[in-house]
Amino acid sequence: MPNKPDEADLTGTTPRRRPKPDVIEINGKKLKPSTLMMGHGFDPALSEGALKPPIFLTSTFVFENAAAGKRHFEGVTGKRPGGAEGLVYSRFNGPNQEIVEDRLGVWEDAEEALTFSSGMSAIATVLLTFVKPGDVIVHSAPLYAATETLIGRILGKFGVTWLDFPAAATKKEIEAVVEKAKAQGNVAMIYLESPANPTNVLVDVQAVSAVRDAMFEGEKPPIVIDNTFLGPLWLHPLEHGADIVVYSLTKYAGGHSDLVAGGALGSKAHMTMVRAMRNTIGTILDPHSAWMLLRSLETLELRMERAGQNAEKICTWLKDHPKVEKVVYLGFPETERQADIYNRHCSGAGSTFSLYLKGGEAEAFAFLDALKIAKLAVSLGGTETLASHPAAMTHLSVPDERKKALAIGDNMVRISIGVEDADDLIADFDQALAAI
Ligand SMILES: *Cc1c(COP(=O)(O)O)cnc(C)c1O
Repeated sequence: MPNKPDEADLTGTTPRRRPKPDVIEINGKKLKPSTLMMGHGFDPALSEGALKPPIFLTSTFVFENAAAGKRHFEGVTGKRPGGAEGLVYSRFNGPNQEIVEDRLGVWEDAEEALTFSSGMSAIATVLLTFVKPGDVIVHSAPLYAATETLIGRILGKFGVTWLDFPAAATKKEIEAVVEKAKAQGNVAMIYLESPANPTNVLVDVQAVSAVRDAMFEGEKPPIVIDNTFLGPLWLHPLEHGADIVVYSLTKYAGGHSDLVAGGALGSKAHMTMVRAMRNTIGTILDPHSAWMLLRSLETLELRMERAGQNAEKICTWLKDHPKVEKVVYLGFPETERQADIYNRHCSGAGSTFSLYLKGGEAEAFAFLDALKIAKLAVSLGGTETLASHPAAMTHLSVPDERKKALAIGDNMVRISIGVEDADDLIADFDQALAAI
């Protein structure tokens, strides 16, 4: 006969169990992110011994007593620094979101991380936190199209202006733009995206940070960077002077093309401000997607490493193909300066690149339509290989002149390599090139 369960447990009279302290080091040696992804931030004892966190589908949380409720709200409203100590209401926080936030922060050694309902809601929440009417945003260009719309058209309606510098800008060129911005108004933020999409040009984050530190006294504008393309494995911008990293977790972090999510990482001081905005406007991630992201993060390093290795092999093969004009891939820097930025900032070249075919739209379309393994879709960073045509799809509304400046030609194909077998993918590209 099985043992009778402990009576006290059934009646709930045992004292509430507290989480066990996390194991984050052994013999003074910090555990690596890939190890911590399996258990960090979750104690099975708090969830009936479940090895994996359940999905907490609840809109609100029960307080132990009235005084605890008051304390929580003091934290949520900012009356007491440090945020809510417990769970309050699902627009503010939830167990699945808190676990995934703890784990996300590990990858970039960030003090705190926050999750959002999409990459764009993360970016919008961060912008709303720091920007007010009359302010100027300095940004690298080009940015993700929706981010440009948000800064230029939407914040523009509220009297915010912007000035940009090309992603490849030198320290001197960045300085000149910041100087001009300071004359225009209060510089509230320096916003970067590296590598730029679809040009794959890297921004010199170290130079931007040096310029910011030299040109502002007292309260300096935060440097915010969209790290969707290389993070969190191949680029850690906080180490190079950025203050806040934002993410579309929809891409590599989610990694299976089955969820939409966003993230923001940084110091506790910055994240406290962003959290207050998120609490107010309700841009937090939902528990189900948070739970899916927990699965994703367990294999993040495996997936990204494999995709990166595949991309290197495939780009090396494509580069010399007679029907290919050029391959714009971080592993083949086009200038010495880009090579220098790459060497100082990145530990890998990613798996998203631009393929320029000999010819124009007809040749590009023939190639895309002939692909058998790679799927025709926008987005990137998933387990499967995707291909798209920026000029006719993601960047269709970009004016012709700007398209030309960004080298978004009719012969350009954007490819995100997945974790399939590299030789199978090469065979697919080979037969699709033959079909042109
Ligand atoms: C996809 C993407 C975004 C937007 O993220 P969503 O999750 O689609 O809202 C922002 N920045 C970059 C670089 C992206 O690739």
